[in-house]
Amino acid sequence: MTHPTIPLIASDHHLAHDGLIELVAGREVPCFESPARATAIRGALLETGAYDLQAPETHGPDPIAAVHELELIDVVEHAWTDAIAAGWDERRALLPDTFLLRAYAGSMPLDALPAARHLRLGAYCFDTATPIVGGTAAAARAAVDIALTAADRVLAGAPLAYALCRPPGHHAGRNLIGGYCYFNNAAIVAEWLVSRGASRVAILDVDFHHGNGTQQIFWQRPDVFYASLHGDPGGIYPYFSGYATEVGGDRAVGTTINLPLPPGTDGDGYLTALDVALDAITDFDPDAPVVVSLGFDTYHADPIANLALHTDDYARIGSRIAALRRPVVAIQEGGYAVEALGANAVAFLGGLHEDLGTE
Ligand SMILES: [Zn+2]
Repeated sequence: MTHPTIPLIASDHHLAHDGLIELVAGREVPCFESPARATAIRGALLETGAYDLQAPETHGPDPIAAVHELELIDVVEHAWTDAIAAGWDERRALLPDTFLLRAYAGSMPLDALPAARHLRLGAYCFDTATPIVGGTAAAARAAVDIALTAADRVLAGAPLAYALCRPPGHHAGRNLIGGYCYFNNAAIVAEWLVSRGASRVAILDVDFHHGNGTQQIFWQRPDVFYASLHGDPGGIYPYFSGYATEVGGDRAVGTTINLPLPPGTDGDGYLTALDVALDAITDFDPDAPVVVSLGFDTYHADPIANLALHTDDYARIGSRIAALRRPVVAIQEGGYAVEALGANAVAFLGGLHEDLGTE
């Protein structure tokens, strides 16, 4: 057996981000985003003998504050403790029930919010799929450290590092949680790479869902390219963004590319769209490692998605990304067919690493 070479950055903090529920079409269901997901991926990767398990290094609050507004960080950090102090049943996950929509505010500033952070939650959250429990804030912070540590490994010369982030991040906006996401791990890494001297960073989002948070954060940033392949939002979460007409703000036209995919898209169809994204990234010519928002909810048996990829397709996707000939920071996002997550991660990262390593 060869010495394990691929850094696998992971921690156990996510295990306490547990006991989660979400509301789907008015029904309370166990949250699809569960600790078992990360446990399955970690076990499968380590079993191959190719991964070097490493704990994340603490990077402190500044990289989070470089992407998210302080009020949002305050809500993520304190909503649970404020709820408990107000008598909340600690066996129940916290979900907002009243949302501060643009239409509610109209032209009013509405800058007076309740002092208690759990009562502000609906001003900083866009759905009913993003529960908070006692372990949420620490898990979200650890996920950021995991992602940043993986980025550090690649900056230090590794061709590939894998960040086993849980909770995921790509739905979290500058001032908004949602879609199981609290802090945007991939966006924080992209900003970190800029702070380390990069002038052009590319994010490739292959999660099944549109990464609305990542797109929002970099909408006006010509130095951060965002390419996303995802299920057509005309029929799937998050519904309100991810259309092909969204190409970046007026100061960054062309640095966002959205490739919505019809239901049932298979591996060949997926690779055709992926080539469009990869060509765009090549044209953008990043001078930093490529940040991959990695979801396996494109799998045919995923319980909340509608594409038709199979395990061997992930190996093909990984080697196609390797053809960029650029180092990669792979950051875990979604994927909810728990029984297949391990095999899909092994296939994707194996294909990517094998082809990255053959110069
Ligand atoms: Zn997803």
